[in-house]
Amino acid sequence: MSGCIWNEPGSLAEKFWREGKGDFPIYDMHGHMGAHYAIYFKRCEAPEMVAHVKRIGVKRLVFSHHEALWGSVRNAQVYEICKQYPNTLRMYAGIIPQRQDQMKEDIANFDRWAPYAVGLKLLPGYHSADVMDKRYEYALAFANERKLPVLVHTWGRDMAMLEAIQKYPDVRFFIGHCCYGAWDHAIRCIKESSGNAYLELTAIPGDRGIIEKLVAGVGSEKILFGTDMPWFDEYQAVGGVLAAKISDDDKLNILSRNPERILGKDF
Ligand SMILES: [Zn+2]
Repeated sequence: MSGCIWNEPGSLAEKFWREGKGDFPIYDMHGHMGAHYAIYFKRCEAPEMVAHVKRIGVKRLVFSHHEALWGSVRNAQVYEICKQYPNTLRMYAGIIPQRQDQMKEDIANFDRWAPYAVGLKLLPGYHSADVMDKRYEYALAFANERKLPVLVHTWGRDMAMLEAIQKYPDVRFFIGHCCYGAWDHAIRCIKESSGNAYLELTAIPGDRGIIEKLVAGVGSEKILFGTDMPWFDEYQAVGGVLAAKISDDDKLNILSRNPERILGKDF
């Protein structure tokens, strides 16, 4: 094990290896909740999820409920779940482009869900749309006016993502999964933004060398940590970031500091 990243005295990785936890708050900026028909989840409801993320030092888990994205539960019900775990849970209001009336009603309610609702979640591919689809305009205009975070699911080279970043300069776009696989395009989205876009790492920490490439491409200040929990586990994802060949300062930016810079220290 000599030369192993977990053996470097005083490093974040070494402390984590010894204690199973760091001494800094972790912000998981991409979670979900609820069962799914096609996969077994060990922990997918609030009590088990909150207990699990607290074990590893997650201060906030920002999630969108599966059922709010599929349309079988309303965002108002997700707010009620968050209220039971005020120290841990924050939500993205799920936006379904086919449900314009619900979307408008939810946006009208958004302020009432403070401090739990911190932004919006768009899942364009699953909703047969792209992020520039007209049916998202109402929600994105609202987010632009309020300078809100909008987490967008991306996978592959997503030109609409780049267009939206440029069309709505005050939205804080979180590029979910970093346009998975199209790494150079993801880097381009940040470089051609006006500073309003961030790469979100869900699904990346298992891929060797990609975190290093993204940090080199855009800088660690532009990268956010996320897991898709309950799809992926916190321990695998945190371990992937801590084991990357980047500096401890970069790791702290990704896991801990960047969300505080965007949303404030105690959002
Ligand atoms: Zn997701």
